[in-house]
Amino acid sequence: MDIDELGQESLFRVLLDNIYDGVYFTDTERRIFYWNAAAERITGYSREEVLGHSCSDNLLIHVDDDGRSLCRGHCPLEACLQDKEQRQAHVYLHHKDGHRVPVFVSVAPIYNSSGTLVGALETFRDMTPEISAIREAESLREMALICPLTGIGNRRYTEEMLEKRVQEAKRLQNRLGLLMIDIDHFKRVNDTYGHEVGDLVLKTVARTLAGAMRSYDFLGRWGEEEFVAILPNVTLEALSSVGNRLLVLVAHSSQEVSNQMLTVTISIGGTLLHPDEESREFLRRADMLMYQSKNSGRNRLTIAA
Ligand code: GH3
Ligand code: MG
Ligand code: MG
Repeated sequence: MDIDELGQESLFRVLLDNIYDGVYFTDTERRIFYWNAAAERITGYSREEVLGHSCSDNLLIHVDDDGRSLCRGHCPLEACLQDKEQRQAHVYLHHKDGHRVPVFVSVAPIYNSSGTLVGALETFRDMTPEISAIREAESLREMALICPLTGIGNRRYTEEMLEKRVQEAKRLQNRLGLLMIDIDHFKRVNDTYGHEVGDLVLKTVARTLAGAMRSYDFLGRWGEEEFVAILPNVTLEALSSVGNRLLVLVAHSSQEVSNQMLTVTISIGGTLLHPDEESREFLRRADMLMYQSKNSGRNRLTIAA
């Protein structure tokens, strides 16, 4: 058979619905008129939920690393419709379940057969597999080390990993960064909405945190509503920029609870390993800095070498 024998339209549909990347088309008013299967999978939003809506209609609400909403002023799609230039960007989209998904987006103008601009095409690639700390537990050993609720390493795993990274950093004389992360006023979430909603919030926060880190960073659940991030080879500036990114991405994630959007914030303490200290002291310092963030108003990062 020859590829020319296939009708172009059916060829495009099969192609678009079978590729790994999310694809959507908008008209010049940014109203979505096509949404492929991968877009449904990556965002959690079905075709019916998005067709006819504008991409800025509180659906995807892309934000950048600084938590700036791209829908108000920095939208690559809008810019492309204006100057007809292709562009690419690393952004975070809003998943229907509430967490933030890291994606690499690419936008291009589309023209009709007479050369008039009729809209734009956006493709987006889910970067979670590349960078996520969320793991599918496969072996018995792994099952005993993964928190079943959040899918990230549990306390025991985190302790083992921290010890390993501390020894390695000392041996190689590398820097090692640590972030202690605690959800603010989490008890209130449980008290107001119930434990099940609390669990959903924990899951959302863990996913957002995991999606915002590099592949060689480690995220674990330290206990209750506390997480620990271990970041090899970071400067204090880099640690601070990761910490700030986590703050804004969590604050821009939300959980839909009986038609209300529920949002939580986190407090973080961050520090670097001293050359001759043990992991216990390293942790204690990060914890103390996290409490400084709590005491100075929460939803903030306190960092010190
Ligand atoms: P702060 O801003 O000072 O951190 O206040 P907080 O309310 O977050 O802190 P506190 O330590 O008082 O409360 C933590 C709560 O976390 C209490 C506990 O019920 C809840 N919690 C711990 N583990 C889980 C869990 O697995 N699921 C749910 N839903 N709640 C949990
Ligand atoms: Mg807390
Ligand atoms: Mg706590």
